[in-house]
Amino acid sequence: MKKTAIFPGSFDPFTNGHLDIVLRGLLCFDKIVIALGSNTTKERYFDILMMKDKIASTFSSNNLVSVEVFEGMTVDFAQKINANYIIRGLRNTIDFEYEKNIAQLNKDLTNKIETIFFIASPQNSFISSTILRELHKNKQSIVKYIPYSL
Ligand code: ADP
Repeated sequence: MKKTAIFPGSFDPFTNGHLDIVLRGLLCFDKIVIALGSNTTKERYFDILMMKDKIASTFSSNNLVSVEVFEGMTVDFAQKINANYIIRGLRNTIDFEYEKNIAQLNKDLTNKIETIFFIASPQNSFISSTILRELHKNKQSIVKYIPYSL
């Protein structure tokens, strides 16, 4: 059976840290669906469809990676596309505490999906979408930290 994983997130914006997780995920899974959650209560900085296109362009030569926008619960979307795994990244203990609760909740919602964590590579540990948004708002270049041009 093919192992399909989803990598859900806001990706506001998608960073080199996220890229690293996808590339390492490909060593473990047959297919990865990067799933941009559209949370109607959370206002985005980068337009979701623009970001979807940027991520798709990043992986245009790799047919094992696709990009989707979804609404609602991650586990529901995972099941809809027949993914049995959720990929998430961990940079520090703050990520760990947050991710642990979500993974345990998701496990409680359905036993069919397993969350797999990748520890951030040291060179990407300090990169966060929040920091990149702050840089961008302050007219600083973020090209060093993203795998596409803006
Ligand atoms: P969310 O809004 O769902 O937390 P993000 O887009 O911020 O989504 O992040 C998606 C996932 O990528 C999360 O599991 C997060 O911990 C992880 N992540 C974010 N930045 C990095 C990084 N630099 N290295 C590794 N993982 C990361």
